[in-house]
Amino acid sequence: MQEFDVVIVGAGPAGGHCARLLAQSGQRVLLVEQAQSFDVNSFSSAGAPLDILKSFNLPERLVGQFWRNITIVTTNLNEAWRSPAPLGVVLDFARLREFLAQEAQRQGATLWLGHHYLSRENTADGKAIAHFQQRGTGDRVSVCARVIVDATGPARAVIYAKRSEQPPLLSATGIEYLIEVSPEIYDRYRDDLTFFLGHRWMPRGYSWIFPMAPNQLKVGAAYIKDRHALVQQTQSLRHYIDLVLREYMHLDDYRLIESHGSTIRYSRGLEDRYYDGSTCLAIGDAVSTINLLGGEGIRHAMEGAAIAHPYILQALQNPHSPREALWQSYQQAMLRRFKDRWLISERLGLKKYLADSNETIDSTIRRVRHLSAQELVDILFYYKFERLTKGFNPYLLNRLYSLFKRIRALLPR
Ligand SMILES: Cc1cc2nc3c(=O)[nH]c(=O)nc-3n(C[C@H](O)[C@H](O)[C@H](O)COP(=O)(O)OP(=O)(O)OC[C@H]3O[C@@H](n4cnc5c(N)ncnc54)[C@H](O)[C@@H]3O)c2cc1C
Repeated sequence: MQEFDVVIVGAGPAGGHCARLLAQSGQRVLLVEQAQSFDVNSFSSAGAPLDILKSFNLPERLVGQFWRNITIVTTNLNEAWRSPAPLGVVLDFARLREFLAQEAQRQGATLWLGHHYLSRENTADGKAIAHFQQRGTGDRVSVCARVIVDATGPARAVIYAKRSEQPPLLSATGIEYLIEVSPEIYDRYRDDLTFFLGHRWMPRGYSWIFPMAPNQLKVGAAYIKDRHALVQQTQSLRHYIDLVLREYMHLDDYRLIESHGSTIRYSRGLEDRYYDGSTCLAIGDAVSTINLLGGEGIRHAMEGAAIAHPYILQALQNPHSPREALWQSYQQAMLRRFKDRWLISERLGLKKYLADSNETIDSTIRRVRHLSAQELVDILFYYKFERLTKGFNPYLLNRLYSLFKRIRALLPR
């Protein structure tokens, strides 16, 4: 049986970046992905602010298109925030995942595509054995490792042996069309991230138009699989994509290059399992690093991998250090980084997508109308909610809100 220091299951942004960092640190890494190619289901719209390139040392060739404006369309409003300089990128998600895996390989990691993770078990000498099934042939293969990393995103396939062990998770599904349009149509949308909110366009979520490459646009819609307090009946995701194509873009002539999609699964309150015993820990969307308000997850999945990296390294370099204490420190570091902001985003997101009326959505947009494009990016991508709360510390407000909820739960009804 082949033996590695670390086996990372899932070659998304979290798994790929983790493999890259650990291989750079000289560890023997196996990165395993169930898809047979990175071009299979390139599901993510992959919009991000500009600093993703520098923060994660990504080359410009992964960029589909730079964007500098944000447009938000609601049932009654159409507002645009313009910037003279680029504020962000739309990445090619397939090429991003491929790049991270290739970087890991360049540093000595092994990559297995087309291998589906099945199960794991611990050995008497503190290692783990992971079992995989090869797509196509059905052959089974097992490997031994000192640490197994669950980077399977919403599946959480490794950290939980059974789906029934998982905490209650909120699901949101998104579908996106990659379309080819005429140069005139493309020019209209090439510099903008355009979002659609409100009951007309997308109750329970939002829709979007992102530029991808010359004459190519991504048009998508995503919604939370839960009831809306005010809208009883909703339609399929494809209905809302068609609505944008027909009634906003007035497009009758385009070529559908492909359609893709996926489901994210998010633990409210970040109640995920970050590690299991001494050999297994989870990163990326397997521990809900996606932000529920904006649906942005690539940067956060990679940042989570970077947070995990020194703890995994320490476990490998000091075999006698108490593993569970290390994993606990990893969990605390993750919660310190994400929890406050994610809980506020969660509350705002659930309110916006599942409870607000069209009037409330419009009044929120009116409140941010005067901001610059960069200030709007600060809210949507950097969660600087103090811009919305007129200087009140939103994290303090959130703590007070949680305290209030706990006290209310203790009071007799
Ligand atoms: C429609 C949609 C649009 C989005 N748009 C954006 C956006 O514009 N910007 C942004 O930042 N984020 C966006 N996101 C979110 C972002 O794509 C995710 O948060 C991010 O990909 C999470 O990275 P990850 O590596 O944790 O998980 P994933 O990217 O989900 O990767 C997990 C990998 O594990 C593999 N895997 C799963 N189970 C197994 C198994 N049993 N064996 C082997 N391999 C397995 C999967 O095939 C997959 O490759 C979007 C998500 C969706 C669904």
